[in-house]
Amino acid sequence: MSAPQQELVFAPLGGVGEIGMNLSIYGFGDDRRRQWLAVDLGVSFAAEEHLPGIDLILPDIRYLEAERKNLAGLILTHAHEDHFGAIIDLWPRLKVPIYATPFSAALLAAKCANEPGAPKIPINVVPVGGRFKIGPFDIELVTMAHSIPESNALIIRTPAGNVLHTGDWKIDPTPILKDATDETKLRALGEEGCLALIGDSTNAVRDGRSPSEADVARSIADIIKNARRRVAVTTFASNVGRLRAVCDAAHAAGREVVLVGRAMDRVIGVARETGYFDGVSDLRGPDAYGYLPPDKVLALCTGSQGEPRAALARIAEDQHPDVTLSKGDLVIYSARTIPGNEKAVGRIINGLIEQGIEVITDRTHLVHVSGHPRRAEIEALIGWVRPRIVVPVHGEALHLNEHAAIARKCSVAQVIRCRNGDLVRLSGDPGIIDQVPAGRIYKDGVILVQADARTVADRRRLSFAGVISVALALTADGRLVADPEIDLVGIPERDRDGELMAEAVYDAVIETFEQLPRGRKRDPDSVAEAVRRGVRSAVAGRWGKKPMCHVHVLSV
Ligand SMILES: [Zn+2]
Ligand SMILES: [Zn+2]
Repeated sequence: MSAPQQELVFAPLGGVGEIGMNLSIYGFGDDRRRQWLAVDLGVSFAAEEHLPGIDLILPDIRYLEAERKNLAGLILTHAHEDHFGAIIDLWPRLKVPIYATPFSAALLAAKCANEPGAPKIPINVVPVGGRFKIGPFDIELVTMAHSIPESNALIIRTPAGNVLHTGDWKIDPTPILKDATDETKLRALGEEGCLALIGDSTNAVRDGRSPSEADVARSIADIIKNARRRVAVTTFASNVGRLRAVCDAAHAAGREVVLVGRAMDRVIGVARETGYFDGVSDLRGPDAYGYLPPDKVLALCTGSQGEPRAALARIAEDQHPDVTLSKGDLVIYSARTIPGNEKAVGRIINGLIEQGIEVITDRTHLVHVSGHPRRAEIEALIGWVRPRIVVPVHGEALHLNEHAAIARKCSVAQVIRCRNGDLVRLSGDPGIIDQVPAGRIYKDGVILVQADARTVADRRRLSFAGVISVALALTADGRLVADPEIDLVGIPERDRDGELMAEAVYDAVIETFEQLPRGRKRDPDSVAEAVRRGVRSAVAGRWGKKPMCHVHVLSV
């Protein structure tokens, strides 16, 4: 009997059909034993969904935990939260070697140092553009332009074929940090032969090519040069190229840069440590702000997503101890609003405008560009690499479909649309061959819970319709000992006819109870259930909503 064929498989465990939470695995071997490589371990932000009390959504890594002994390593493409934000919480369950380039490794270390109780995570630092082995996988990093330093595509070579995992990327011939997408290496992969391209779909609905970071830098520099009074700029703290462009523009206009916000401090510290801020003169702390004349200062602030505790929100509410803005000052919003944050961002912008502060956003000026490829860029990459298979990842259904359509238009032999948990065979006879467990975990306070945990569903119901508690004391022969205790939380005080809701509930309790025949029907469980139904239907009739209702029956 011949040995079973060694094959190459791929499964997304997050990031397909949703925003954020990127986690992919590659497997090499046969169906009796595969060795795995994990790529990225990201979060998504719960603000996008109605999940009261939940801050973060993490991928369910149950499958990786079960396969831990076959998991050779976890490699990070880059240090955005949607690719590395789940590591601190989930790494202790895997204890797998992590591979990252210097900037991503340093940012992860800085994040751990900032988080009380974070585990000590050993990181294997690999060089930008480097080639090394992780288990049976021969990995080569390809520099890609993006909105953070060191975004790496991965060439994953195996005896069953080569894969290009793009990570997040765009084609920017003139990036601020000179980290242009390595077209030469990608074309060489095309010559060598590429079985499959697993690629970023985020901007596949947008025509043409993205503008360059250099265009944004010029536009921001013009605005700053012409400003007469104080200027504040907010952007994503991790966009080191943008931070650098803003600092250069400020210095060219004779302004000192004041850093406001811890995330900004942390990233710039890491950028200095890794050489991405070489040549930028020293920046000032918030305490310097008050001493500098209005036309000699620029505040670089966190809070572009409307985060209530971040610098910009506090400045807008005049709650910041050091930094103030007033009529005639200027705020540049050098960021896109992530879906789910529109209201929070809108509140801050409107608050600033009402105080007479001018606000410039990307709606009217070129003060921000995305770090993801538009359609012409995706076409160019496919042309360079000429993969046999394209698998769209990193996006919602619409983005994945558009990416698939572009690949078909480029005459790619096979386009595979998959979902989280689909096991896709890339070598031999390609296609979806199996399912592995995938899903979501919520971070609830400091606890990780399954996404189907009842607590979260209960909290959502409570937030829509409140809760009613009823306590009854019964004698052994089924008589009420005293008046029922009733408590309403989150319920309107009066119904639409002006009747007190508490009285309606009281009447419903008594009425329901009295209709129950004596004897067996008055055992505590039957009473509780009957009263619960009676109360809910009485309130629904008066309010149009069914609250939660808890009935406690005490036998005395
Ligand atoms: Zn991403
Ligand atoms: Zn990214």
